[in-house]
Amino acid sequence: MTSFRVRSILTASLAAGIWVAYTQQQPPPELTVTKVHDDLHVIVGSGGNVTVYETPEGVVLVDDKFEPNVPQILAKTKSVTSKPIRYLLNTHQHGDHTGGNAKLMEQGVEIIAHENARLNMEERKMPGLPRLSFANQFTVRLGGKTIRAQHFGRGHTNGDAVIYFPARKTIHMGDMFVSSAPFVDYANGGSGVEWPRTLDRVLTLDFDTVIPGHGPILRRADLVKWKQGWEQFREELLSKKRSGMAKDEIGKGLNVDPFFGTGGKWERSFSAFWDEVK
Ligand SMILES: [Zn+2]
Repeated sequence: MTSFRVRSILTASLAAGIWVAYTQQQPPPELTVTKVHDDLHVIVGSGGNVTVYETPEGVVLVDDKFEPNVPQILAKTKSVTSKPIRYLLNTHQHGDHTGGNAKLMEQGVEIIAHENARLNMEERKMPGLPRLSFANQFTVRLGGKTIRAQHFGRGHTNGDAVIYFPARKTIHMGDMFVSSAPFVDYANGGSGVEWPRTLDRVLTLDFDTVIPGHGPILRRADLVKWKQGWEQFREELLSKKRSGMAKDEIGKGLNVDPFFGTGGKWERSFSAFWDEVK
């Protein structure tokens, strides 16, 4: 099962707590580590990508998958650095990116998220609420290195943070960038109309490497292309709407692959996006 499908199941059933049963039924899948730089690795597989950034004074993680993945996240981190994990930045509140929060907090890891992400977690009674939150920007300075979490606007949710590693010209996008059709979480303040505009602001950063929320590591050009696909898709639907087509006429037969690449479940976002686009 792909991580994307796991995420879909999770998102659909999070409120009911079914995901807990689902993830506990079977041992979590084996994770793999991809090296981006000597001090920057990504743990891939099951749930969202986890970035491991090493500094002389400790490690900064981005996201922590599902709760059952924590032992492996710790083991994989240990396989690339002997330093302790000090901070963890959540890109947004979804359970495949924050599932390990509670366990990591027990280990003394300080967790940081955007205010809205924290609020969304709180409203849904999710475990592992971050103790630190921010509105626009939060900077961690550790061991002579800088890590910056920035909120550029609405997109996947209303509390997405892009994590920037300036020394490595690398950004971790969370689910603001996936190499498939996007999921706009309208229930958590997401916006398909704002999303590409938010990406425009992300692109003002100086970076060449992009860690998406799920899947393999990509380049700046991939994000530019995906953002352009978003804009074209928005225009396409807008022109359909203006031409008088009804929502029901389009919904089922819509092929979004030309805009976003294959995969993803656009149907989940279609109805609310159609209403939003003007
Ligand atoms: Zn998400």
